[in-house]
Parts: sequence; structure tokens; C-alpha cells
Amino acid sequence: MLTILDKTFVPFIDRDTLQSRIAELAEQINRDYANRRPLIVGVLNGAVLFTADLLKNLTIDCEITFIRVASYDKTHSTGQIKQILGLSEVITGRDLIVIEDIVDTGLTMQEVLRQLNEKEPASIAIATLLFKPAALQTPLDLTYVGFEIDNQFVVGYGLDYDGLGRNTQAIFVLEQP
Ligand code: 5GP
Repeated sequence: MLTILDKTFVPFIDRDTLQSRIAELAEQINRDYANRRPLIVGVLNGAVLFTADLLKNLTIDCEITFIRVASYDKTHSTGQIKQILGLSEVITGRDLIVIEDIVDTGLTMQEVLRQLNEKEPASIAIATLLFKPAALQTPLDLTYVGFEIDNQFVVGYGLDYDGLGRNTQAIFVLEQP
């Protein structure tokens, strides 16, 4: 069990299950990107542990960078604006693999893809550790998915509740009342 602030979370995906699935995803990437030298683009903060563990299992030549997606309300009428911060590499003509912790509505990833595509990379693949199909609001082509999960709130292994709980080796789910 994990208690964060006022919430109780119960075990959901244990460390060994995470690590063996991540090793499988890495093997797929090793096969798909043999001789291609992709640029791995980790999305901070949530994907930091997943990106690190995935990288440890990659045997291909690859480079690594991290981006952050900043969300803010510009005006009430335009809604949330999402801005990509931290991308200093030239990505034109590169094969990108974007690494996310979780795809929920998919709106964050849709906007990340739109902004990356403006710079004309050769290809973009998405690797997400978790995917909530029932919450998806926009079509997304997810090439590598660790686990499909129900529409529940999870924490741990990079995922936070109010900034806390990222530093665990397993994933926990909010306890149902
Ligand atoms: P989306 O734009 O796909 O709706 O949401 C993406 C972001 O929402 C994720 O990167 C993550 O930060 C947050 N998120 C969505 N579902 C969860 C969840 O179950 N737990 C946590 N901790 N964050 C979530």
C-alpha cells in the first residue's frame, strides 16, 4: 500500500512485471531500428524512469534527449496551450522515438507530434509505458505500448500525485472506495 497526502494507492504493476515488459519493448525497438540511429525523446517528468530502463536494454546506436511539455492557459477563450521546452537538437530528417509514461486522452501526445512534425523528422514513433484506451479522445498511432489499463488513476515509477510518488519501483492504483 502507498499513502500520498490524502490518498491511498494499492499495488498494480510490480517491479518485475514492469522490467520484463520493458525488456520486450526494447527488443522490438532493437529489431525495428537496427542500423538507423534513432533519437530517443523522453518526455519529462513522468517518463524519466521508463526512459532510463528502456535505454539500458537498447543495444542499437541511439542518441537521447529530453523535452518537457508546459501547459498554460493563454486566455480563457483559447483554452490550454501546450509548449515543448528543451529540444535543442536538429531533428529534421531524424528517426524519433518519443517516450511517454502514459497516454490518457492523447491530447498531450497529439500536440507533441504536431510540434515535432513541423520540424520535418524522417519518422516519429511513440513508446508509452501505459495506455488508457477508454480515455482516448483523438486517434493516435502508438507503436510501442507497455500495458493497456482501465481508466483509473495510477502513480509510481515516474507518475505522480500532486508532485509526489514518482520515486517507486512499482506502479500503484488509487484505491476504490
Ligand atoms: P493526456 O494528454 O494523454 O490526457 O495526458 C497525459 C498526461 O496526463 C500524462 O503525461 C500524465 O502526466 C497525466 N496523466 C494521465 N493519466 C494519469 C494517471 O493515471 N496518473 C498520473 N499520475 N498521471 C496521469
